[in-house]
Amino acid sequence: MENKELHFLSKISGLLAAEIDTTKLIAGLDAMLKEYISFESFAAYVYDSVTNTMRNCGGNWNIIEDSSEIYNIFESIKKHDFVINSKAYRLPAAIGEIKLMIKSLYIPLIKEEQVFGLLELVFSQETLIDTEFLFLIKIFASQVSLKIQNIVLNEQSKINVEFHDSMKNIAKIIETQYELNYIVPLIGEMLDRFISDHLIYVFLYQNNEYKLVWPKACNDERIYEAIKQLTPDTEYILTNNDKTGAFPLISEGEIIGCIAARSTLDKLSKRDISYLEQLTRQSAITINRANTYAKMLQYATLDALTELNNRRQFEVRLKQEIATAKRQKNPLCAMMIDIDFFKKVNDTYGHASGDSVLRTVASIIKEHLRESDIPSRYGGEEFAVLLPYTHIEEAQIVGERLRKAVETTLIPIDKGNINVTISMGLAEFNPEESGEELFRCADKALYEAKEGGRNRVCINANA
Ligand code: GH3
Ligand code: MG
Ligand code: MG
Repeated sequence: MENKELHFLSKISGLLAAEIDTTKLIAGLDAMLKEYISFESFAAYVYDSVTNTMRNCGGNWNIIEDSSEIYNIFESIKKHDFVINSKAYRLPAAIGEIKLMIKSLYIPLIKEEQVFGLLELVFSQETLIDTEFLFLIKIFASQVSLKIQNIVLNEQSKINVEFHDSMKNIAKIIETQYELNYIVPLIGEMLDRFISDHLIYVFLYQNNEYKLVWPKACNDERIYEAIKQLTPDTEYILTNNDKTGAFPLISEGEIIGCIAARSTLDKLSKRDISYLEQLTRQSAITINRANTYAKMLQYATLDALTELNNRRQFEVRLKQEIATAKRQKNPLCAMMIDIDFFKKVNDTYGHASGDSVLRTVASIIKEHLRESDIPSRYGGEEFAVLLPYTHIEEAQIVGERLRKAVETTLIPIDKGNINVTISMGLAEFNPEESGEELFRCADKALYEAKEGGRNRVCINANA
């Protein structure tokens, strides 16, 4: 190699070491090349696997239009050393073998034996080049290639760092929130932010089906087909030529939902898939925590044995219903229920059987009430029920029905089936009174029912 070539290559190395901005880099290379050979234009193009397009490295990474010849040249250069005047060549082994008049020259940019882009040199007039020049330009291309890879990697890791920072921030916001209605849109927005050129959907798995929770609608059949294939062991499903992906939200080995994505450009790239996997994992943790919290809240208000409201929750609901009845001047009734001779059940069949009786009576109570009625376990084998919008006459009908239902239900226990009966006291709310007084009246009626022989419904005489 002569001095001129060595000088050229060392100048190029200096520029490559200094420059980190691709536009300036390509402009600098252009100027240095011009000192060596005269030509019209120089450019570098890189294939972007995320968008499946060629990008102009020296022109703000702008996407090259589909119709451009560059795509064909990129394909044909993959198996060759050069494309000269639209024809692909391999480099001859011996120097000095060829001399060519050329108008255009393309050299591949290679990374780990994979062509990831190309350099373009266009001449204003036919120019004579020889094999030695081709060798030189090949060395030049391999140096540029390394540099561009570094820049791309650098930009890629910058995106990754931003991605992880934001994920942490959003995780922090979500950590303090337990409302799924609030969390799910946040997850949707977070996904939208990092997975561009995709439509993203969030589904929750409830009552054996996937329910779309974000955004409002999904009319894409392919999404539903993809999510149908999910199992708790699935990492993710890709369908529709890798354009559609479904990522299960897994918690404690069970599917609690899924995130689905459809690319609006080409296919889901490795990077998209990696982001989606990470976000899905984070979302599953968040959704699971919200579900656990909801369950905890529920258990704090429910009685563990009967799953009716507990005494504390009953007091809360009583206050609310009294206030509503007063404000809206609605009727309101109270019902006190006590199982007859329950002690005998325990004594005869054991506590476990007693518990099953309590559970069964509770479920009969629930079954015979309206959605708006508020049943609760008041204590031991006593139940209190609030009946909003209900006059005493209706309460009496409900109460009778309930009493009969308990009386006629065979309750399975260890040693066969048993029957129990209930006694009930009813009272209607008087707006001059308090909630406490209302239940004192109902309790008085219950006492009368017991005194009167049990298995009966009594109404408080003051009502
Ligand atoms: P009465 O008809 O007068 O109501 O008679 P009773 O035997 O039902 O009334 P009493 O108040 O004497 O007995 C209530 C029994 O309920 C006593 C208690 O051991 C039992 N009990 C209270 N809570 C539970 C529970 O959670 N499980 C079980 N198995 N028994 C309970
Ligand atoms: Mg009792
Ligand atoms: Mg009793």
